[in-house]
Amino acid sequence: MALLGDAAHTAHFSVGSGTKMAMEDAIALVAALDGVRTDPAAIDEALAVYEAERAGQVARIQDAARPSLSWWEHFGRSYLNLPPWQFAFHFFSRSLPESKLRQRDPAFVDAVHQAWRAAHGGADPLRTPVTIAGMAQPDRVVPVDDHAARLAAGPLPLRSGPGSWGLRVSAPDTEAGLDQAVAKAGWWRGQDLGAEIAAVAGARPAATALVDGGARIGYGSLLARADAMASRLTGRLGLRRGDRIVVQLPNCWQFVVLTVGCLRAGIVPVMALPAHRQHELAYLCEHSQARALAVPAVLRGFDHQRMAAELLAASPTLEHVLVAGPDPRHQDLTALCAEPDSGSAPPVPGPPDPRDVAVFLLSGGTTGLPKLIARTHNDYSYNARASARLCGLDESTVYLAALPASHNFPRQRRRGPPPAGRQPGGRPG
Ligand SMILES: Cc1cc2nc3c(=O)[nH]c(=O)nc-3n(C[C@H](O)[C@H](O)[C@H](O)COP(=O)(O)OP(=O)(O)OC[C@H]3O[C@@H](n4cnc5c(N)ncnc54)[C@H](O)[C@@H]3O)c2cc1C
Repeated sequence: MALLGDAAHTAHFSVGSGTKMAMEDAIALVAALDGVRTDPAAIDEALAVYEAERAGQVARIQDAARPSLSWWEHFGRSYLNLPPWQFAFHFFSRSLPESKLRQRDPAFVDAVHQAWRAAHGGADPLRTPVTIAGMAQPDRVVPVDDHAARLAAGPLPLRSGPGSWGLRVSAPDTEAGLDQAVAKAGWWRGQDLGAEIAAVAGARPAATALVDGGARIGYGSLLARADAMASRLTGRLGLRRGDRIVVQLPNCWQFVVLTVGCLRAGIVPVMALPAHRQHELAYLCEHSQARALAVPAVLRGFDHQRMAAELLAASPTLEHVLVAGPDPRHQDLTALCAEPDSGSAPPVPGPPDPRDVAVFLLSGGTTGLPKLIARTHNDYSYNARASARLCGLDESTVYLAALPASHNFPRQRRRGPPPAGRQPGGRPG
């Protein structure tokens, strides 16, 4: 059997390549089969030649379509964030330069310029003041050399360090090179988050890591519990690296131990919120194909454990429910968080790849159901360091986690540089 055209491959509608590829497939197929119609072995060989010839050419078109594909995948953000006139110009000028756009519709281009000036104190686009790294720039033309962006207020060094700085990243030839390009620019450390936390904990084991009501846990204990958790999740529960666990816990110390344990084992937490109910959780479990779900027993009068039991019964992938609080009728999360017996440090599974997804956050968005946001170890580590620096947090900071711990901001506070945290929120029921 020979497949050709849409049945074999597509690129992206924005590059108008489907008909061309289908026609070229047909031509190549005829050329390959020409003259070998009666010999079955020769037909197989001809089909292999056809496939080899077309695979490379199709891959080239698909590669060429990738930037356009990516633009279309993300242009909804522009729709949500730009006023209509700017969105329209942004949309059209993706494939047409302004001069060509003006040939077709001069009134539209003039109206866009007018709208820009009206919104920016009468300045033309390139002459519009902008603030870069906290410095006022009178226009939008900035010479950049190997060492600095030459802003009007002074040079902005192109390397990370104290104070303001910028980074120069060379676009890689292929998507596969993106990791390296960003790592080279100094943003990514190439280390998994569990290892980063372990390094910090190892350096200050006696310091307080978190306080939750009467529970006070030092960094050494946190790491020991997290490693024990990692080995219990993988050993006792049979979870594997890359498996997902939906975590619906209030701010409590078990949340922290479970999260760090997952990071150590490469198990990926999906950060649900305590306010979610069956509708949202069923979706999250199904969409992430979660194998485990962690819930409080009862929280603010709602029986999460019962809801989890119903989800477990209905889900094709869920195998375990972990319960924080009294009377756990499933896995006892508090017991899973216990320190290992003295002298028997549990084996920690091999570290995850820093390019792997470390955690799934949720985005509310405009639709009813939350969307999953994948954060890799590399990028989430950078996120933690950058936001700690921006907020002026360091190891002497005590952070009151009043926001839900499953939100992005409080999760970042517990890492590099990690403060002595306080987790006083709702306790599992
Ligand atoms: C809205 C739109 C706009 C497009 N614009 C462009 C463009 O601007 N430029 C471009 O290059 N490409 C464009 N394409 C893509 C292009 O049309 C396809 O890539 C191309 O037609 C693929 O050719 P094909 O022969 O593989 O499949 P098709 O053209 O889909 O042919 C498959 C045929 O098989 C028939 N069929 C299906 N099942 C059976 C069956 N069981 N028995 C018998 N017959 C069956 C179908 O009726 C159809 O006639 C566009 C596609 C769409 C949908």
